[in-house]
Amino acid sequence: KERGQGRVLGEYFCGVCKLWDNTAGKGEHATKSIYHCPYCNVCRVGKGLGIDYKHCMKCNCCVELKKGLTHKCINQALEGRCPICIESLRTSTKPLKALACAHVMHDECYKRYRKDRYTCPICNKSMDDMSEYFSRLDQAANASQMDAMFANTRSRILCNDCGSKSIVQYRLMHHKCPRRACGSYNTRVVETMVLRPGAPEPTS
Ligand SMILES: [Zn+2]
Ligand SMILES: [Zn+2]
Ligand SMILES: [Zn+2]
Ligand SMILES: [Zn+2]
Ligand SMILES: [Zn+2]
Ligand SMILES: [Zn+2]
Repeated sequence: KERGQGRVLGEYFCGVCKLWDNTAGKGEHATKSIYHCPYCNVCRVGKGLGIDYKHCMKCNCCVELKKGLTHKCINQALEGRCPICIESLRTSTKPLKALACAHVMHDECYKRYRKDRYTCPICNKSMDDMSEYFSRLDQAANASQMDAMFANTRSRILCNDCGSKSIVQYRLMHHKCPRRACGSYNTRVVETMVLRPGAPEPTS
């Protein structure tokens, strides 16, 4: 008798891939489940298409379905590849992570990369909701005294999150985007300038 697809008593067998996995549902893998994507033609870790993953025909890979996360199709040179390890996401069987900016990478690559960075390697936007971290930077900025020698120094910054340019008080690091709806610290200094004493604040 041939086994079909699906889980049999914590065991998973895929008739297409001839993949056999008996770790699912056991011990540390208690929550692990596997499904076969007929479009990717591989078995992936996940509950299934339409449950926690969907296959995007345009990107030709499986993308995570999560509340509040809308998949935007990847339009990039690295199309369909993990930006960290460059492996093709389509044929990769590892779990994938869709970022807030909709770029996709391996979950394990994300976890490793996220340890020291919070910006997307492709578009530089914040990969997660950073509001907690940003409010800690707000507190630190409010608590620290500005060096009087920089009183007339300004930074022209570009916000990686909202894309707006602004001129703000110079700081050694962590320039905050002044747009009220944004407030991100994910900014880049494009120019540093010193104002003549008494000169009006530059607006652009
Ligand atoms: Zn399979
Ligand atoms: Zn797929
Ligand atoms: Zn897509
Ligand atoms: Zn990767
Ligand atoms: Zn991105
Ligand atoms: Zn901004």
